[in-house]
Amino acid sequence: MKAAVWHRKEDIRIEDVPDPDAGPGQVKVRIKACGICGSDLHEYRNGPFLIPAKPHPLTGRSGPVILGHEFSAEVLATGEGVTRVRPGDRVTVNPLIYCRNCHYCLRGQHVMCTKLGTVGFAWNGAFAEYGVFPEYGVHRLPDSMGYDSAAFVEPLAVAVHAVKRSHMNIGASVAVVGAGPIGLLVMQACRAAGAGRIFVIEPIEMRRAIAAETGAAAVLDPAQADTGKEIGILTGGLRADYAFDCVGNQASFDTAVKATGRRAVLCIVGLAMKPVEVYFNRLWGHEKELVFSSGYDDEFPAAINYLADGRVRVEPLITDRIPLDDLVEKGIKELVRRGDRNIKILVKP
Ligand SMILES: [Zn+2]
Ligand SMILES: [Zn+2]
Repeated sequence: MKAAVWHRKEDIRIEDVPDPDAGPGQVKVRIKACGICGSDLHEYRNGPFLIPAKPHPLTGRSGPVILGHEFSAEVLATGEGVTRVRPGDRVTVNPLIYCRNCHYCLRGQHVMCTKLGTVGFAWNGAFAEYGVFPEYGVHRLPDSMGYDSAAFVEPLAVAVHAVKRSHMNIGASVAVVGAGPIGLLVMQACRAAGAGRIFVIEPIEMRRAIAAETGAAAVLDPAQADTGKEIGILTGGLRADYAFDCVGNQASFDTAVKATGRRAVLCIVGLAMKPVEVYFNRLWGHEKELVFSSGYDDEFPAAINYLADGRVRVEPLITDRIPLDDLVEKGIKELVRRGDRNIKILVKP
C-alpha cells in the first residue's frame, strides 16, 4: 500500500510499504480522510517530538513511522477476539495507546498513562491506504456523519477536553485566543457547552471571518485594538470569565490574562515551544486560576455527538482536500507557509 513515512525531520516520503494485517484485538481499516495536524507539521520541521527516539515501551516503535492521527475509516477485517466492530462499519479511532494497567489508566485518565503513545507517532498512522489499530480505540460513527466531518472527531475531542478542564459554567463569557483549528473548535465546544458570549482574538483576517461565521459573538484583531479593553467594553467592564489560550506563547498568554476579569479561569491549550513568564501578581489579586489541557481521555463519544447533530460545524474549517501523493507539497508545506489562507487540510488516501 501507499503511505507517508516520516524518516527524519524534513524527510517524509510517500512509499510503498507492506499492507498491515490485524493481529489479535486489532482492527484493520481502509482510511477515508485524515486531517493534517499542527503536531504533524512539528514532526516535519523539528521532529522527532512525539515520535519516540528509542523503541516505545508499549508498541516497540520508533521512527521511521507513518504519520496521521485525525482520521475516519471503514473496517475491512478484525483480528481474533474483536467483538465491538465488524467489516463494513464506519469508524474513527482514538489514537491514544495506553497500558490499561497503571494508576492513571485504572482511573480512566488515559492521557496521563505513564507509558502513553499515540497512533501516527509511536504506531503507524493514517496517512496511508490502510491501517491497523487496537479495538479499544475504535468508535463507530452514526450513519448520518460523513467521513470528512468524522476526521474532526479527534481535534474536537481536544476542544471538549479543554472545556471540561476549565469547568466552564453555563452562561459564562469566554475569550478564545487564537483561531487556528483548535481555537475554532474550542469556541464551538464552549457554545455547545452553554457559554454566554464568546470573543475570539486572532490576527489573521480569514480566521476571524470563520470564527464569526461559526458563532463568535465578536472577533478582535490584536494588531488593531487593545483586546482586553475591547472585551471590557463588550462586557460592561467585567471582561471574560474564562479564557482559552490556544496558541501557547508569551503574547497569547498575556492577551488571555488581560481578556479576563476577577476570579477568571485561564485554560492553556496551546503547546508552548518556549518558556512563558507568569507574573503571579497579575493573577493573585484577582484570584485567577490557571489550568492546562493536553489531549483527551474519553471525549470521543461527546465529540461524535456534537458533530452528528450539527452543534459543531466543521465544513467551514476545511480549506483543502488533497490526495496522499500531495501530502508534503500541498499539505504540510502549504500549512507552514500559508497560515493566512488555511485552517484544516484533509488528506484522502
Ligand atoms: Zn492532532
Ligand atoms: Zn497506563
